[in-house]
Amino acid sequence: MPTESPGGGFRKSPSGKRLSSLMVQDYMALHQKASEGAFVVWIAIIVPAEIFAGFANVVYGVPESHAAMCAGKGVGSLQCEKAERMGYSSDLCSYARIDLGTAFDNGKDSPTFGLPRPHLLVSNTNNCSLLVKWFDIYHRVWGVPHFTLDIPFSYESQKPRDFDYIVTQFADLIATIEEMSGQRFEIEKVREAASLSCDALREWKRFIGLAAGRPSGITAFDSFVQMAPFLTSRGTRHLAEHYRMLADETEEQVKSGIFPVPAERYRLLWDNIAPWHQLRKMSSRLSELGANITCASYTYCIGSKEGEYALHEFDGGDPFTWLARLQNFSVCPHGMRLRANAMKEVIGINGIDGVVFASNRSCKVYSLMQMDQMRRVRDELGIPCVMIDVDHADERKYSEEAAFTRLEALLEMIDAGRAGSIAPA
Ligand code: SF4
Repeated sequence: MPTESPGGGFRKSPSGKRLSSLMVQDYMALHQKASEGAFVVWIAIIVPAEIFAGFANVVYGVPESHAAMCAGKGVGSLQCEKAERMGYSSDLCSYARIDLGTAFDNGKDSPTFGLPRPHLLVSNTNNCSLLVKWFDIYHRVWGVPHFTLDIPFSYESQKPRDFDYIVTQFADLIATIEEMSGQRFEIEKVREAASLSCDALREWKRFIGLAAGRPSGITAFDSFVQMAPFLTSRGTRHLAEHYRMLADETEEQVKSGIFPVPAERYRLLWDNIAPWHQLRKMSSRLSELGANITCASYTYCIGSKEGEYALHEFDGGDPFTWLARLQNFSVCPHGMRLRANAMKEVIGINGIDGVVFASNRSCKVYSLMQMDQMRRVRDELGIPCVMIDVDHADERKYSEEAAFTRLEALLEMIDAGRAGSIAPA
């Protein structure tokens, strides 16, 4: 978690430093094991990576997570431009463009030298159909087999027949890897990985739960940064340990009176993917205005069943049951009712004054119903809302001044509502 240093600006906390070395280790281990002959899988972020722990020598790379890192390190647009020069439309998701730009330029300009070439691609329709098409490009160009987990969208609670359909596909995926890699699968190892992931997620929920304090113990930007190892280190002891220390350290800071926005006057909620290229700039400028985006639908959904906020616990039994039940955790495929349920709960728990709907040029599935949802939050809860234009990873499609004009208008609406001079509009 970044904290303000006495001389202004920010310094890295112990958990921030540990996060950096964790990510370096994750990517170095991935390249190292791949070069030593491990079976390499590229996955969509929703794919339950704990399954790979069931094999002795299967490693995985996460193109979306790597793309987010590129954007955070300031090379997102550069990689996008490479893809666009190859003829890929600038309307495509910036994660896809960053990944294509990186992969077809052999990892050049990537902070991690890209990802090692895969033996198998595993996409997931729970994200979006674009991701399936994006992985298909590597299938066509490199001839790498592509396995698609077909996860039904959830407009309500996951249906038993959808659950069964998902579990069947896990079995097909395992059989595919066994056949391709020649490695034997052991379910006990997956049980252990699921148990460690659940431990990690319990600590994650404790960490993001610190947003309920006044002032909030965290910002949503902390959760954006800290979610990275959940994508690259699932099912590992070091992930569970990192999140335990993160929650402990953040609790200690709160006890010592250290808060990310000490003069917090506005408590906001963010809806959509993180603006990776703006984390530091946006959080600093908001902090100067006394505003804290304390939580985000993008990170409070992690570890929960669709439309819920609480952790869905692993009971130590069949790991596939737990993994399949969590396949709909991400917000993208949710209908309005599910999105509203979780958001209403978090608005209540965290005492939210206003909601920032970040309309994302890249992620149409996340953004499509935001206008209706915004109306719902405003009309049903009386919470002021604003919509700003963002692209999560392509900085060229973001205007700081346009965004802040609207964000400042949101703060004015909150003030006006407090003064009772006008009803929230
Ligand atoms: S469009 Fe959205 S869900 Fe699809 S890959 Fe891009 S960020 Fe992910």
